[in-house]
Amino acid sequence: MKKVLAFDIDQTLNVAKTPITDDIAELLIKCLNHFEICPISGQKFDQFLIQIVNRLLDCGVTPEALTHLHLFVAQGTQYYRYEDGEWQQIYNYPMTDEQVAKISQTIEQAARELGFWEEDKLAEGDEIIENRLSQVTFSALGQKAGTEAKYAWDPDHKKREAIVKRCKELTPEFDYEIGGTTSINAIIPGMNKTFGMTHLLEELNVKKDDILYFGDMTQPGGNDYPIVQMGIDTITVRNHEDTAFALRGILGVL
Ligand SMILES: [Mg+2]
Repeated sequence: MKKVLAFDIDQTLNVAKTPITDDIAELLIKCLNHFEICPISGQKFDQFLIQIVNRLLDCGVTPEALTHLHLFVAQGTQYYRYEDGEWQQIYNYPMTDEQVAKISQTIEQAARELGFWEEDKLAEGDEIIENRLSQVTFSALGQKAGTEAKYAWDPDHKKREAIVKRCKELTPEFDYEIGGTTSINAIIPGMNKTFGMTHLLEELNVKKDDILYFGDMTQPGGNDYPIVQMGIDTITVRNHEDTAFALRGILGVL
């Protein structure tokens, strides 16, 4: 019997960068009665609140249940837990300003060279490269672009694979991973989901066998692949409907 259900967020629990549905929220609330629930994603803390926590509150989650929710922010380089009625940061491993600057320059150069620097398509005040403290994230059309435009931009990952290839030539000291629909996450080697998952094992005092992980990018090069490589049991999903289907199955046999 697993003790922990861990989840990628984008495309696994939601439609990329949007709040989870009532269906997923209600399933997660039920799961909180039986498991420790650990979303791990490249996103920032405020997006974890908007996309998951606030939706659980809308759907009636109790403060007691929230103590079983563990937020592994920025690929688990930051960890938050609900204690004494608020979210407490338990640890944080940020990048240096110098590393952030170097990565930002690299990605912009690679995208410009390949003709994938879509500055003209950005909404006002939006940005392509975002400093998420423990990682730098490239979002080809910005954060605010519509879901449809994002899906259409790189459905076969080819554009992002080309950008990643060029980035690795320019600054091989960093790792670049494809995630979401238009994103590339740049990290310090080792500061990927392996890092988050390793800390999860420690913080929750569980073994690899205790965990079941859900992700949509479990193929080599995808941002969920490090979890597969760790030997953790993984369910590959195409979208949150697949995840809901699997969660119903799990809850059905409890
Ligand atoms: Mg994903």
